[in-house]
Amino acid sequence: MRRFLFAAAAAALASPLPAATLGEAIKTDMPLLMTVYRDMHANPELSMQEVRTPAKMAPEMRKLGFTVTEHVGKSGLVAVFRNGPGPVLMLRADMDALPVKEQTGLPFASKAVGKLPDGSPTPVMHACGHDTHIASWLGTARRMVAMKDQWSGTLVMNLQSGEETGEGAKAMLGDGLYTRFPKPNFVVAFHDSALMPAGMIGVTPGYTTASVDNVDITVKGVGGHGASPQATKDPIVLASRIVVSLQTLVSREKNPLDPAVVTVGSFQSGNKHNVIPDEAKLQLTVRTYKPEVRKLLLDGIARIARGEAIAAGLPDDRMPTVTIRDTQHTPATFNSEKLANRATELFKAQFGADRTTVLPPHMVGEDVGRYWLDDPAVQGTLFWVGGVPKAKWDAAGGDTTKLPSLHSPFWAPDADIVIATATEAMTVVSLDILKKG
Ligand SMILES: [Zn+2]
Ligand SMILES: [Zn+2]
Repeated sequence: MRRFLFAAAAAALASPLPAATLGEAIKTDMPLLMTVYRDMHANPELSMQEVRTPAKMAPEMRKLGFTVTEHVGKSGLVAVFRNGPGPVLMLRADMDALPVKEQTGLPFASKAVGKLPDGSPTPVMHACGHDTHIASWLGTARRMVAMKDQWSGTLVMNLQSGEETGEGAKAMLGDGLYTRFPKPNFVVAFHDSALMPAGMIGVTPGYTTASVDNVDITVKGVGGHGASPQATKDPIVLASRIVVSLQTLVSREKNPLDPAVVTVGSFQSGNKHNVIPDEAKLQLTVRTYKPEVRKLLLDGIARIARGEAIAAGLPDDRMPTVTIRDTQHTPATFNSEKLANRATELFKAQFGADRTTVLPPHMVGEDVGRYWLDDPAVQGTLFWVGGVPKAKWDAAGGDTTKLPSLHSPFWAPDADIVIATATEAMTVVSLDILKKG
C-alpha cells in the first residue's frame, strides 16, 4: 500500500519522475522485453526484407491500443496513439540485421540464412544491435500507454526497415509517412554503442553521424602482354595513382576543421601475372558532415580520376567513369541542439551525471537524420546507449580497440542493461516533450 501511495504521489509530479518509480515499472516489463530481444536476435532479417519482425510487433502494438499500419515503404511499421491535444512525437527504431556470420557463442545465437540482393545466400546476424532497439521501442510504447494520463499529444511509433543500406527512412517518407500519418514535431531515436560501457548514455548536439556516399570508379586502360608495357596503357598503375592522389582531397583541399574521409575499400583488376588488363575497378566510401564539403570531395574525385588519366596519356574515349550511387546515399544526422541539450539535462537528472556524457561525433552513417533534414519545423535527436558488458570493458581498460565494434561477428551487448536504460531514457524524453499544458 505504501508503495502504491508513493507511486500515485510520484505520478502527480511533473517529469522527470523519480528514478525508482519508472525504473521499477520497466523492471517488471524486462522478462517480456528480453524474450522479444532473444527472439529477434535468433531470427534476424536483412535490410528491406523484414517480414517476421514487423509481423511479430504489430499485434503487440495493437494490444496496447495503437492503430497499426504495416508495409509502409515496403516493410516498415507505423503505430499511432492519439492521446489528446499537443505535439506529435515520433519514436523510431530500426529493425534490420547484417550479412554477418555470428560468432558470439550466445545460447540464442543466430543460425539464420538470408539472401543478398544478387540472390546468393548469406548468414545473417543482428551485429548492429537493432534487436535491442526493437525491444526498447516496445518497452517505451508500453510505458507511454501505462502512463497516458501524464501526457497529452500524439505518439507515432516507427519501426523502420533498411537502415543498414540507407534505404528505409527514404522509402517510408516516400510512401507517405508524413502525409498518411501525423507529421511529427519531434523525432527521437537511440543506437546501442560499442564505445561505452553498458548503461552509459551519450548525446552529441549538432552533427552526430556522417553523410555517406558510395562511389565507383572504372579505370579504363589498354591491355596487352606484361612484357610489353610500352604497347599498353596499364590501368593498374593508373588506378594506383588515382588512389594516392585521392588522399590529397582530405589532406590538402578541404579545411582541416571539417571532418571528412575518402577510403578506397576495394581495388579489383586483372587475373594473371603476365597480362596487363584493360580495366580496374575502385569502390570508395566518402564521408563528411557539411553538404559543401561533400560536394568538394565528390567533384574532386571526378577531377582527379580524369586528370590522372590525362596524365597517363589515355585518349578522350578511355577516360575513367565515376559513378556516385545516389540510391545508397545517407545524409549526415544533425541533432537539433535544443532537443539534444534538453535530453542531456533530463538524462543527468534521471540517471546521474556520471552515466551521462557528451560524445564526440562519429563518421558512421545513420539514415534517421532524413526525418528532420531540411525541415526546421521538425526537431530530432539520436542518442547513444552504451552496450559493452562491464566486465569486458574493465578487462580492456576501456580501450575500445580491444573490444568488438558494431558490425563485428562478436558484438554481444549487455542487452538487459541496454534495453532497460534505453526504455527509461526514451520514456523520460517522451514524457517531457508531451507533458501536459
Ligand atoms: Zn549498423
Ligand atoms: Zn545500426
